[in-house]
Amino acid sequence: MTVTPTRISYVNGRYVRHNEAAVHIEDRGYQFADGVYEAILMENHVLIDGKQHWTRLKRSLKELSIAMPCSVNTIESIIQELFRRNRMKSGTIYLQVTRGVAKRDHPFPKKPVPPALVITITPRKTPSEKERTLGVHAITHPDIRWLRRDIKTISLLPNVLAKQAAVEAGVREAWLYTDEGFFTEGSSTNIYIVDAKGVIHTHPANEMILGGVTRDTMLKLAKKARIPVIEKPFTLADIKKAKEAFLTSTTAFLLPVVKIDKITIGTGKPGKIASQLQELYAKHVQALSNPKK
Ligand code: PMP
Repeated sequence: MTVTPTRISYVNGRYVRHNEAAVHIEDRGYQFADGVYEAILMENHVLIDGKQHWTRLKRSLKELSIAMPCSVNTIESIIQELFRRNRMKSGTIYLQVTRGVAKRDHPFPKKPVPPALVITITPRKTPSEKERTLGVHAITHPDIRWLRRDIKTISLLPNVLAKQAAVEAGVREAWLYTDEGFFTEGSSTNIYIVDAKGVIHTHPANEMILGGVTRDTMLKLAKKARIPVIEKPFTLADIKKAKEAFLTSTTAFLLPVVKIDKITIGTGKPGKIASQLQELYAKHVQALSNPKK
């Protein structure tokens, strides 16, 4: 008989039963969404593109003047210990750092408090076979976020509202556009179109979008495969003329997008470039998680 282990999470120095895991009500993450997060994939005890996630975490913290709660080595040891305690070897890691606990007051605490670190792990929510092979649908939605979207902050209310609009429309994602009509990214994904000449278009990784780790890897794989890429914002008119569309994220990898609002993209089936990149990305993950094969 196999016994299902009690789910364990990490909260500020302690491994605790997940259903008893809690932070203080004056944690600034709870009061002000004053914190950042990362979602990272573990495959077979190997962090996928871990280095890039740590670089982004450090950058997000620096931009908000929050200290690293401990070294990357220590965080990696905590993660390995969490996987051991939960008897898992693969899954999605959610890691959150907030400015810490202090009496509720807008400015940073005068006397510095230690940043709070919470880490949870869950089995990866893999997109279905149908989504991967037939593609998904999306809606368009105004981008009402602040202007530092490059910081992976836990302040996600506009993203939550956009995703809820997608769910209520019965589709996978909301593609966000600015007042000027330029598409930035999805509510929790980066987005791309392929033009009639086979060129991938995606918003540049500046302050207007979150620079996805999957986006970065995907663009490197595209360049290696000699698929041309233009990092330039695109519009609804460009979407209407596109041959292909797709989205990427740590948990979704790459999903073809075959319909946006009422617009059918290309033939309405996943395109050649999306399928090729899907394959290249799967190989990339496979090579990292099974280095000997
Ligand atoms: N954009 C936003 C707004 C996101 O929330 C995410 C995923 N957290 C992404 C893009 C994709 O980033 P990554 O590839 O690092 O998961």
